[in-house]
Amino acid sequence: MGEKYKRIETAVIHEGYDSKDHLGSLAAPIFQTSTFTFDTAEQGERRFAGEEAGYIYSRLSNPTVKVLEERIAALEGGEAGLAFASGMAAVSAVLVALTKASDHIICSQGLYGCTFGLLQMMKDKYNISHDFCAMESAEQLGALIRPETACIYVETPINPTMKMVDLEMVANVAKNYNIPVVVDNTFSTPYLQKPLELGCDIVLHSATKYICGHGDVVAGLVVGKKEFISSVAMTTQKDIGGIISPFDAWLLLRGLKTLPIRMDRHSENTLKIFKKLRNHPIIDKVYYPGDLDHPDYHITVKQMKQGGGLISFEVNGSKQAAQKLLNHLRLIKIAVSLGDAESLIQHPATMTHAVVPEESRRSMGISDQLVRLSVGLEAWEDIWEDLEQALNSLTEME
Ligand SMILES: *Cc1c(COP(=O)(O)O)cnc(C)c1O
Repeated sequence: MGEKYKRIETAVIHEGYDSKDHLGSLAAPIFQTSTFTFDTAEQGERRFAGEEAGYIYSRLSNPTVKVLEERIAALEGGEAGLAFASGMAAVSAVLVALTKASDHIICSQGLYGCTFGLLQMMKDKYNISHDFCAMESAEQLGALIRPETACIYVETPINPTMKMVDLEMVANVAKNYNIPVVVDNTFSTPYLQKPLELGCDIVLHSATKYICGHGDVVAGLVVGKKEFISSVAMTTQKDIGGIISPFDAWLLLRGLKTLPIRMDRHSENTLKIFKKLRNHPIIDKVYYPGDLDHPDYHITVKQMKQGGGLISFEVNGSKQAAQKLLNHLRLIKIAVSLGDAESLIQHPATMTHAVVPEESRRSMGISDQLVRLSVGLEAWEDIWEDLEQALNSLTEME
């Protein structure tokens, strides 16, 4: 395939599509079709045998979806991409493709809740065990590697505590053992962080979040080497079937065009909100990768272009104080998900991480006072004024 556009601001708009191929249509057409006709029986035979390129059936491949797959592959600097019906369809297709019964997975100390649930299911059903690792040093990670370790699975920044994992360090350790490293790049997007360039092997996304950017699609994406992507396409994607619809692929292509300017604004707004929160008297702790005093700031600088749009903080008080804060907000909406134009706030202990047992939650640093804010694209002053009035109402009433 090869990247045609080396600057990401141009690639998000043009990569993988040429209007000349489609009657001059500026926007990629939506090929809303389940199947494709063959001219002759022999042509059908050749297509199925892989002797002739061309479309067969939309679970195998679709032209609109293909534009999206080529575009995300180029943006991540990978050889090939695949699109799925959800982030979890992508996560499960990758993890099932990489493992067999009785294998072992090493994962970062903090995972998206449903990824945590999937690993638990794989353990119960197929005896595929997993170890959590803080991944603070090569020695710490190396000590967990076993002959049956099938992959290392990393999220960074880690949700919702914003701890960072040094991806280059992880990739270097994994190379010594020939173990693939999978990175969930949902929080950063290729605009802020490019795991493949740091030596990791597979990148995946919940495209529901920043890639879409408008809160109107649930989707997933995977990028990696051609050989691996083909194997997923022909097994866990084709035979389990969590494919994206052409219309959703089209919405993601539309959302992607503004990814760089959206990520710039998300990061700028968040840094401003961070500085205000840090100085507010009833906020105990604020977690943001772009914080110069963050213990992992040296990792942020090394692998991220900016701090991104997510921030977590602890309200002085109890779970009730955190809930009261949410209930007093007017502009900022109470909702899980992230990366939308609208600012969204949630309470991890009772929402995204409610399934994690309390003890594990505490060891992951998720207290009952912690709230996570996905800073939107509104004027930052409006976001702050809303937060400030809600924070002030807490002290007034107590
Ligand atoms: C949302 C999310 C997922 C799951 O994606 P869906 O699109 O909701 O299936 C996976 N990983 C991370 C980090 C997420 O935020």
